[in-house]
Amino acid sequence: MPVINILPPHVADMIAAGEVVERPASVVKELMENAFDAGAKNVTVELRGGGATYIRVVDDGCGMAPEDAGVAFLRHATSKLKDERGLEAIGTMGFRGEALAAISAVSHVELRTRRRGDGEGTFVSLAGGEIQEMGPAGCPEGTSMTVRDLFYNTPARLKFLKSDRSEAAACVQTALRCALGRPEVSVRLLRDGREEFFSPGDGRQDSCVYTLLGREQAASLLSCQSWDEGLKLSGFVSSPAAGKGSRAGQYFFCNGRTIRSSLLQAAVEQAYKNSLLTGRYPACVLYLEIPLGSVDVNVHPAKTEVKFSDERRIFDLVYQAARFALETENRTAQVELSPSTRKLAAPKADFYRSMSAEEFRAAGYTAGAAAKAAAPAPRKSPAEPKPALKSPESFYQTRLELPKAPVSTFSEPKPPSSTAPKKAAVEKPVQNVESPALPDHKIVGEALKTYIIVERGEDLILIDKHAAHERLIFDRLKSREQPAMSQSLLTPALLKLTPEEGALLEANGELLGELGFEIEPFGRQDYAVRAVPADIGPADAAAAVEEILEKLRRGAAPDPASARDEILHTVACKAAIKAGWDTQGPELEKLVEAVLSGRVKYCPHGRPVAVTLTKKELDKQFKRIV
Ligand code: ADP
Ligand code: MG
Repeated sequence: MPVINILPPHVADMIAAGEVVERPASVVKELMENAFDAGAKNVTVELRGGGATYIRVVDDGCGMAPEDAGVAFLRHATSKLKDERGLEAIGTMGFRGEALAAISAVSHVELRTRRRGDGEGTFVSLAGGEIQEMGPAGCPEGTSMTVRDLFYNTPARLKFLKSDRSEAAACVQTALRCALGRPEVSVRLLRDGREEFFSPGDGRQDSCVYTLLGREQAASLLSCQSWDEGLKLSGFVSSPAAGKGSRAGQYFFCNGRTIRSSLLQAAVEQAYKNSLLTGRYPACVLYLEIPLGSVDVNVHPAKTEVKFSDERRIFDLVYQAARFALETENRTAQVELSPSTRKLAAPKADFYRSMSAEEFRAAGYTAGAAAKAAAPAPRKSPAEPKPALKSPESFYQTRLELPKAPVSTFSEPKPPSSTAPKKAAVEKPVQNVESPALPDHKIVGEALKTYIIVERGEDLILIDKHAAHERLIFDRLKSREQPAMSQSLLTPALLKLTPEEGALLEANGELLGELGFEIEPFGRQDYAVRAVPADIGPADAAAAVEEILEKLRRGAAPDPASARDEILHTVACKAAIKAGWDTQGPELEKLVEAVLSGRVKYCPHGRPVAVTLTKKELDKQFKRIV
């Protein structure tokens, strides 16, 4: 008696369906991809409930011939691949010929399709993969695919579906991802008859992003572009100030396909190193265009995983584009007066005191005298939509070869291999072209011994003096332009360390030495700090070493490069002028210059160093305007 059965085809299809059709959102994805492959210019997606009861995707693509309409639902039936050679360069979203077979095996499907130029169309209905009805039908050119009662014959799957709300949310998110990847296709999504989103399909990345992700998110994005022999990257990355609590705002596309890629994710995140708070993630919408043969999309049935043949080049391309966008970002954070900052509108008496003009003139605050000479018109407060998306056509106007980057700018991509980074051409957004001189500005004063107040054009800029100074020092130390300066302490600072701390000290001894620390064991658990980096005051020596060891102990620095950065953070923080300290005029002026020139934007932990209050915002608060 044989024990092995060859499963009937419909059971095999049901099993295979599990890989392709996991939930209603997978149906949305597959049907949308088929519409894109059919060359549709307009695609409408309709959902009811969570999608399991009803999903319909209508397109105006090429349609199917009557003789293809039924065949399309067979397994491995595809018009997109002929033989194994085609697998080496896949230019369509689909190629496996599985989706329609898988979907129809576990649902009720109705297809109406008419080939462009044909007099009439075809209607096909299926239940559990079996054709029920088929024949000619009147319908517009293009294809309409309706999927009802998903998983009606696979109760085990049905049980695993979440609430309608979360399934619908997943469908919307999937459709949005697909739509975002195709700026040249207009996509409309209706949920229970209500429009969830609509993209214009005008081929422009900026309008696609703007309509799908919304004004607020679009406003925080900086445009970025780079290319390198056959590879092209374009799109947007978020300003560090708009970091998110998760990676949900990261969208990657490769040749129009939405992909998940830890490589691209790492490249983008590496670009934000030292300008984003820990636990915050950049958002991005990045479009990669590369030769079809240099990416393998046949890694998983869902086709969202890909393998690049030259990971290193792709990493560099993405890293450098993002890095360049951040380097050229030239804005301080805009604030709207929140209830807490409104307190500024009713400042304490000493606030006014610190604004006395004579006092500041006496201290040398001649309000950017050098800058005044060649000062361009004051910066206007940005109009809507905000800078990165303001004049998209300008992205294509100026191109420049990436200059031989200063060491501090592109010094530390952490690529997967060790060859030197390849130079990629990077486009510099026009609005970020640096002006030779600083716009006219006036240092109004310092408030709360913490914030430097600067007036520039119609803006009032508040600068966190500690954060700005910390960044300046950090960048200087990191650039390694000069060898680290060390200062010997007249009286060594004594430390008592736990055995664990002692071991960490030893493990990182070389690095600490290179940065200007000299620490010697002294008895069993005692250590003497004999020298520290010149930026640290003797009084801070012991605290700095303790803080560094604490960071290393917590595992804040898993590799030598991040250990170096963590140590530099501590040195910069200890060396920087503090809030609450009295600071001299020239020192403040230096900081203001660094911030206004755009050299300093975020502290090494990613906090903004300056915020801008516009006159309009203030006028609104005082009801001068409504
Ligand atoms: P694949 O997309 O991998 O080829 P599918 O099962 O998704 O496999 O589709 C099978 C075939 O049906 C496609 O190759 C295509 O020829 C045809 N088809 C599916 N959807 C459409 C559509 N919206 N417009 C035109 N043809 C379609
Ligand atoms: Mg398909």
